[in-house]
Amino acid sequence: MEIKELQNFAKEENERGRSKTKTSEKESILTTAIKLGEEVGEVSEEVLKHFNYQVKDKSFEKNEISYEIADVIIVASILADSLGIDLEESLKEKMKKIKERYEK
Ligand SMILES: [Mg+2]
Repeated sequence: MEIKELQNFAKEENERGRSKTKTSEKESILTTAIKLGEEVGEVSEEVLKHFNYQVKDKSFEKNEISYEIADVIIVASILADSLGIDLEESLKEKMKKIKERYEK
C-alpha cells in the first residue's frame, strides 16, 4: 500500500467524521488528538496482555494488537490531514533525520 492511499483514506474519514459530528475545525483537531492518545493506550493495553500484566483481561491475540497499531496510524493520519500536513513528506524527512543520527 502506498502512503497516498492512507492519506486519501484519512481525508475521507476526516470529512465523514466532521460532517457527522458537525464540529468546528478546532474541536475536530482537539478530539482527534485526544482519540490518538486513546488508541495509543489501547496498544499499551494489548502489550500488557501479551506479557500477562493485565489483572482482569488476559486474552492476548496478535490480531487485536495489529488492529490497535493500525488504529494509531489511521488516527495519526487523520490528525495530519486536519492540520494540512503531507504525511508522505513528513515521514520522508523524519526518516532521513533518524538515519542521519547514525551516520555521524
Ligand atoms: Mg482501537
